[in-house]
Amino acid sequence: MHDLTAIVADITEEMLAAPDRGRPADYIPPLARVDVGKFGMAIVTLDGRVFTGGSADELFSLQSVSKVFALTLALGRVGDQLWNRVGREPSGSAFNSIVQLESERGIPRNPFINAGAIVVADVNLGRGAPRESLAEFTRFVRHLADDDTIAVDQEILKSESETGYRNLALANYMKSFGNLNRPPEDVLALYFGQCAIAMNCVQLAMAGRYLMAAGRIPDSGHRIVSAARARRINALMLTCGHYDASGDFAFRVGLPGKSGVGGGILAVAPGVASIAVWSAGLNAQGNSQLGTLALERLAVRTGWSVFDGMNVPGI
Ligand code: GLN
Repeated sequence: MHDLTAIVADITEEMLAAPDRGRPADYIPPLARVDVGKFGMAIVTLDGRVFTGGSADELFSLQSVSKVFALTLALGRVGDQLWNRVGREPSGSAFNSIVQLESERGIPRNPFINAGAIVVADVNLGRGAPRESLAEFTRFVRHLADDDTIAVDQEILKSESETGYRNLALANYMKSFGNLNRPPEDVLALYFGQCAIAMNCVQLAMAGRYLMAAGRIPDSGHRIVSAARARRINALMLTCGHYDASGDFAFRVGLPGKSGVGGGILAVAPGVASIAVWSAGLNAQGNSQLGTLALERLAVRTGWSVFDGMNVPGI
C-alpha cells in the first residue's frame, strides 16, 4: 500500500507553492473574492481511512460538482427514461454553451453541461416546489456524506439567481423545445440552489464514496444506486465531467472526475478511493487549475487510474 500520508503532504506542499494558480470565477461575484492561495485535499479509501492536506476543512461552493448527485437522484426518479431528454456524449463545448441546442432541438449533449443539468433539475423538481426539492437534494447530499451540517450558502444562491442570465436563456430555450416541464424560474431555483451548497474536501470525498464502491456507501452498506448505474455515472464523469477539457483530464489523470467553478473536483478511483481537491483558481475551461494538477500528481504517485491496472501486484 502507498504511503498516502506522505503523498498527500508532498502534493499539498507543491500546490501551496505553485506559481500559476489560475483565476477564480468572476461571473458569480462572491466567487471572485475567494483566495486562490489556498489548496485543500481529502482522500477516503474503500476501507474508510481518511487522508487530508491543506485547507481540507474549508467550505467552498460546490457548483457543478452537484451535478453528479443531481444525476444520481434523477436516475432514481425516472431511470433510463432520462436519456430521452439528455444525451450521453461529450459536448466539446464550454459548460454554459448554447450552440448545440438549436441543431439538437433542445436535447443537451450530457447531464454535466449546464443545459443538461437544468433538465436534470426539472426531473428532480417533479411536481414539487423548488424549496422542498432543494431541501430534499440537501438531505440526499448529507446522507451521502454522513454529515448533517451541509447546507446551502444563501449569499451565493442570491448572487447567482441575480446574475444567471445565461442559465435563464438555456432554460427558456429548452422550454421552447418542450424539454422542460416546469417554469424555467422554478427549475433554476433548484439548479442554483444545488450549485450553492457549501462543502469542504472531507465532506465531498465522503459524499463520493458510493461511486468507488459499486453504488453502496462502504461503511453502512447502504445502497445508493446499482453497481451498473454507479459504473455509468463514473463513465459520464470520465467522458463529460470537465466539459471541453474532459479529454485532457482523462489524459492527465485518468479517473472519473467532476469539476465546479468553485474550484472543487470530485474524483473516483473505483474500488480504491474517493478523492476531493479544491483550489479556487480556474483554468481556461473553468476547471480548478491546481486541483487538476494535484490529481495528476496523485495518479502518477499511486498508479490510481482506470487506465492503469489498479490491482496489478506491485503497482
Ligand atoms: N452554477 C454554475 C453555473 O451555472 C455552475 C457552473 C460550473 O460549476 N461549471 O454557471
